[in-house]
Amino acid sequence: MNATFPLAEFPDYRMSPDQIPETVCEILDDVSRQKLKKKIKRLLIEQNAIMVAHYYTDPDLQLLADETGGYVSDSLDMAKYGNESDSKTLVVCGVRFMGETAKILNPEKRILMPDLDAECSLDIGCPVDDFTAFCDEHPNHTVVVYANTSAEVKARADWMVTSGSAVDVVRHLKEQGEKIIWAPDKFLGEYVQEQTGAEMILWQGSCVVHEEFKALELQELRKKHPNAKVLVHPESPAQIIKQADFVSSTTGIINAAKEMDAMEFIVATDNGIFHKMQQAAPGKLFIEAPTAGKSATCKSCAHCPWMAMNSLTKLAHALENGAHEIFVDPDIIKKAIVPINRLMDFSKSPQQLAGDA
Ligand code: SF4
Repeated sequence: MNATFPLAEFPDYRMSPDQIPETVCEILDDVSRQKLKKKIKRLLIEQNAIMVAHYYTDPDLQLLADETGGYVSDSLDMAKYGNESDSKTLVVCGVRFMGETAKILNPEKRILMPDLDAECSLDIGCPVDDFTAFCDEHPNHTVVVYANTSAEVKARADWMVTSGSAVDVVRHLKEQGEKIIWAPDKFLGEYVQEQTGAEMILWQGSCVVHEEFKALELQELRKKHPNAKVLVHPESPAQIIKQADFVSSTTGIINAAKEMDAMEFIVATDNGIFHKMQQAAPGKLFIEAPTAGKSATCKSCAHCPWMAMNSLTKLAHALENGAHEIFVDPDIIKKAIVPINRLMDFSKSPQQLAGDA
């Protein structure tokens, strides 16, 4: 590790348990589900709208996106897809920063979300005023932020990266002799630092889902499933990453499930991803990495409480009433598009990204 800073100098932006909402998933009987789906399908056509949904959202939403010609993916691909679509309205099923990124990339389109309270602990834990002061205290650093940040934080950054692109981008910057400010996820930052050897100052944010995976319990689970491969998202703590057979973004994890020979996988990321993994690799067994260790404070337990706020009922309401529209200040859009476009251009360059968002 090349940490060149005393961590104690920086505040810890980890959320306390009472700041984390309960994970509440919508439960519908089949008649209500079908009725809502029919209504949403009609509204999508009437309003020239298309659904884009994240892998962590409810399977009902992912299925509906697939059935209506929409798209299910990771955050960056969701925004890129919106850019390529002719639809006048994008309904983003995910969390707020995803809606904002879609707006930054598609300012002429109407962006609706099922619930504007669907946030992200990484975004909440990186308030723009604190982050700006942090950057100002460390001049002569290139500011690299993860996609899970507000439009305002992106507007302060030089680069935006995703979990699939972070290592490649930071390695490239290191080769250019750049010192880096990284925000907001400290575990992903530590992983990138370890992989690249870059000089990085890390913001102390974390994801409430991934930080709860438990190393000792994972060791025990691996003993019970000796043939299982361990797939880990790099927002997880280092002690979890150390036990991984494969560390990757959400898209990379789904592809690994399909391509690896193993029939059993232990998966350390939000369990919403299991829907796509089962579609991609039918017949294989997917086991949740353990979160319920002795020190667990998790209210979400491998399912993001904010992703769970997306539901068919709220989606129908948003479409019917034009509710929960995302607005981003045009001046912020002009600035925030710069670090996003840097990533887009880099991904087309000969450096070739190893994965995706
Ligand atoms: S799973 Fe973690 S990183 Fe993803 S939206 Fe939820 S809190 Fe944010």
